Amino acid sequence: MDMLTKPERTAYRETSTYAEVMAVLEAVVEGSPYAHLTTMGKSADGKDIPVVILSNPRVTTAEAAKATQKPIIYVQGNIHSGEVEGKEILQILLREILHGDKTYLLDHQILLFAPIYSADSNDKLEQGRRPSQEDSPIETGIRPNSQGWDLNRDGIKAEAAETRALLQNIIVPWDPDVFVDLHTTNGVWHGYSLTWAPSYHTAGEKAPYDFTWDKLLPKVTQEVLAKDDIHLGPYGYFYPQREGWPIQSISTYNHHPRYLVNQFGLRNRMAILSEAFAHERLYQRMNSTQAFVREILTFTNANAQEIRRINQQAEADAIQTVLEQSGRLKKGVRFKMVALDEPIKEYRAYNYIKSANAEGRPMYVRKPEIITLNNVENKSAFEATVEATLPRGYVIPQAQQAIVEHLRRHGVEVKTMDKRIRASGEVFVATALNKARRPFEGHMMATLEGDFQPDSERFQKGDYYVDLAQPLANLIFYMLEPQSDDGLVNWNFFDTWFEEQGIDEAAVRYPIFKYFELK
Ligand SMILES: [Zn+2]
Repeated sequence: MDMLTKPERTAYRETSTYAEVMAVLEAVVEGSPYAHLTTMGKSADGKDIPVVILSNPRVTTAEAAKATQKPIIYVQGNIHSGEVEGKEILQILLREILHGDKTYLLDHQILLFAPIYSADSNDKLEQGRRPSQEDSPIETGIRPNSQGWDLNRDGIKAEAAETRALLQNIIVPWDPDVFVDLHTTNGVWHGYSLTWAPSYHTAGEKAPYDFTWDKLLPKVTQEVLAKDDIHLGPYGYFYPQREGWPIQSISTYNHHPRYLVNQFGLRNRMAILSEAFAHERLYQRMNSTQAFVREILTFTNANAQEIRRINQQAEADAIQTVLEQSGRLKKGVRFKMVALDEPIKEYRAYNYIKSANAEGRPMYVRKPEIITLNNVENKSAFEATVEATLPRGYVIPQAQQAIVEHLRRHGVEVKTMDKRIRASGEVFVATALNKARRPFEGHMMATLEGDFQPDSERFQKGDYYVDLAQPLANLIFYMLEPQSDDGLVNWNFFDTWFEEQGIDEAAVRYPIFKYFELK
C-alpha cells in the first residue's frame, strides 16, 4: 500500500500531494541497491525538490556518474502543477524499475527522476483550474511557482528558486544527455493520446535534434502503438473556427530557450517535450505518458553510447566552429516559424462539421469520431530572420558584474583579464530600446535597435571575458547577442545601463564588446 500513488488509491479521482509523493519515494527507494533519494535544492517556499538517482551499481554524485561513461537521462514531472500525470507515472516507473520488471532500464544508463519540480504549487489544490481536463483529477495545483513565475518561461532569466536549483544541482553538474519534460496540453482536439516535440535547435548544433526527430521519436511512436495500442504524434495547435475545416496546417510552440526543452538544444543535448491529451481521463493520460517515457528510456538504454557520441560530437563541433569561423560566420539570433519540407502524411484529429450560429456565421462543431487528414503542413521548423556574426568571445566590463554572475549560474566559464588587453571586433551601437506595452512574466520585454560597427577598444585588468571556444558557445551567443529574441537584453538585464546612458537622447553602445581578436 505504501508504494501506491494517490490516483491508484482513489480510482484516479485525486492527484498526489507533495507529502504523498515524498512518502511513496521514500517507501520505494528504501533498501534498494540502485536508488538514491536526494534533493536538487529548495523551492521558493523552502520545500526540498526531490530527485531520485537510479543507477546499477548505485551512484550518488555527478562525478561518480560521469566516471561510468553512461548517458544521464533526466525526466521531470509537474513543471506546471495542473499537469499531474508526469508526477504520478514517475512514482510508478520508479516502483517498476526497483521492484518490478523494468530493472533492465538501468543496464546502460543513469536515470534522474524529478517527479514534483514545482513543489509548492502542487498543493494549492482547487477544482476547475484546468477546464480542458474536465475535472480529471477533480482538483489540481496552480501553474506559476510561489514567486509568480511560469517555470517553463524562466530558462534564460532564471529568476525562480526552482530554476536556480535545477541549474546549480542538476543541469550544470550532471549535464544530462537527454531531458524529458512532462506536460498536459491545453485543449486542441487532435487525435493523439500524447503529442511530442523535440528541442528546437535554432542557433544550436543540428545533430542532437536530427537524432531525436529522425530516429528516437519515430521509433518510440511505433513501439508504443505496437505494444500499448496508443497513438502518439507531433505536437501542434490548430483552430477550426479560425482556419476552417479541414485544417491545412498545424503549428508548434516557440523556439525560445526560455523553454527548458529548447535550452537543452543550445547546450548540445537532446530533449523531448511530452504533452498528454488534456481531454482524456487521468488514468488514460497516465497510461500514455508512462508508455511514452518507458519507451524513450528503452530506446536511450539501447542506444546509450550512440547518444553520448552524438552529444559529445555536437559539443566539439560548437567549439570547432568558433575556432575556425569566428569573425566570419553569421548565425541566427531571431527566428520565425516555418513549415517543414515534409507534410504530415496522415494526421489524426477529431472531425468537425460546418454549421452556422444564430447570426448565420459559419461555425465548426466537433464530432465524436477521429479521422485521418492527409498531407497536413507541419509548421515545426524555424528560420533565421536576423543574423549576427559569431565572435571569438565577449568582453564584459567590471561594471557589468551581474551579467558575469548570471552567465556563471548557467555554467558558463568567465575569465578575468590579468592585464590590460586590446580587443578588436564589433560594438553594437543602439539607437532605441523598445519596451513591450504589456508585461510578460513580470517583465516589459525589451528589444534593441541599432547596428554593429567595427571597433577596437582597450580593456582594463579586472575586466571579464568569455572565450566562446567552450561547450556552451551556442547558449552564450543566444544570451549575449544584443539583437537576440530571447537574450539578456530582452529580459531587461541592460535597461538600467541604457537609461542611465541616455538612450532617449542619443545612441548608446551596448556594454558587452564582441571581440574577434584579443591582444
Ligand atoms: Zn505545461
